[in-house]
Amino acid sequence: MTFEQLGLEAGLLRAVSDQGYTEPTPIQQKAIPAILQGQDILASAQTGTGKTAGFTLPLLQRLAENKTSGKRIPRALVLTPTRELAAQVGESVITYGKHMPFKIAMVYGGVSFGGQARQLRQGIDILIATPGRLLDHVSQGTVDLSAVEILVLDECDRMLDMGFIHDIRKIMGRLPDERQTLMFSATFSKPIQQLAHTLLKSPVQIDVAPRNITADRVEQVVHPVDRHRKRELLSHIIGFHNWQQVLVFTRTKHGANRLAEQLAKDGLKTAAIHGNKTQAARARALKDFKQGRVRVLVATDVASRGIDIDQLPYVVNFELPNVPEDYVHRIGRTGRAGNEGRAISLISDDEMPLLVSIERMLKQPLTQDVVAGYEPSFSSDTSAVKSAAAPGKPRRQRPRRSGGSTSAPRRSGASARG
Ligand code: AMP
Repeated sequence: MTFEQLGLEAGLLRAVSDQGYTEPTPIQQKAIPAILQGQDILASAQTGTGKTAGFTLPLLQRLAENKTSGKRIPRALVLTPTRELAAQVGESVITYGKHMPFKIAMVYGGVSFGGQARQLRQGIDILIATPGRLLDHVSQGTVDLSAVEILVLDECDRMLDMGFIHDIRKIMGRLPDERQTLMFSATFSKPIQQLAHTLLKSPVQIDVAPRNITADRVEQVVHPVDRHRKRELLSHIIGFHNWQQVLVFTRTKHGANRLAEQLAKDGLKTAAIHGNKTQAARARALKDFKQGRVRVLVATDVASRGIDIDQLPYVVNFELPNVPEDYVHRIGRTGRAGNEGRAISLISDDEMPLLVSIERMLKQPLTQDVVAGYEPSFSSDTSAVKSAAAPGKPRRQRPRRSGGSTSAPRRSGASARG
């Protein structure tokens, strides 16, 4: 199947071929024709499936085909959960729309309100926004949403997780009823289904990545290790394999900072991104990471949303996420569109129940590999935990002390230094 066969017009085909895409991804094959026909869609697709182009290309074409009121107020609105994702979707819209006459703006928090208001006043066609900042503009009267023809809700599950439901509903109240709505969500929880029910009109359902199937190009390995030796093991692995671009997940902002500091002390160029950092600091860290000036980027789940790096080869779960679905989100950062990826998880005793929940969701056990010199002081047999722990409920366990904690590791992180 080719992009031509999907019915896209010449300017878009040119933009697609400029990007070097030769074939539409599965979500694009399904979403593009449905959106071009004006249908609402409810799509389950993870980041990395090509979903952004999947909605952006037909959205641009619809705007070009539809008659406009002549007023330069937003005709398409894309809502995203985070600033990073808004910025990245915005960049994609600019990239795919470069041969079209549309004006595009992004509004999100953390940057000057006035500058955004000025841009909105000058007239735009497509607006990409996070819900909170958009509502600020709505209440200040700096944006008029009455001409929106197409609404996209990107990473909807994440918007609900972040508590944006009321903001989303308020924004809906400002939009025309007569519109096309496209909803994307990695998971289909009850609240997502309820929202879909109220917002979508006979939607086409597209399901390219069932939530319990992870990107099959990602090799997943679990390293059981005592908690207090995790940092040392991580330095060792990065140095031993000479990994040059590694995204590491921690559960908390504080944990991200602390780990970044410790890895820096091990001689690894490291940056941390999380919600307490300014937008400028997050953008800088991401840029340094993309350009190879930073070797290890430590991130929390929320801050990592929408990190879009082609060919990101390694993802490390320094700690497992509390929600199994987040595991899929995290490892979806690697193994994207045609590239192989590797995801490793460092698991301590207290995380065994989380591992069990993840394996249940994936419907497969994950390969375990004990690193020589870092043997854990606990049993990592998940079949034992399965029977002991209540389903999905993390069991609290006091980590046992490792007898070998003071002995030197067999292979130190020294190869990572310098
Ligand atoms: P997304 O799921 O939208 O975050 O896209 C993931 C990555 O796939 C992005 O880096 C896109 O540039 C890339 N991509 C999107 N569509 C295609 C395609 N048809 N062929 C190859 N790469 C693509």
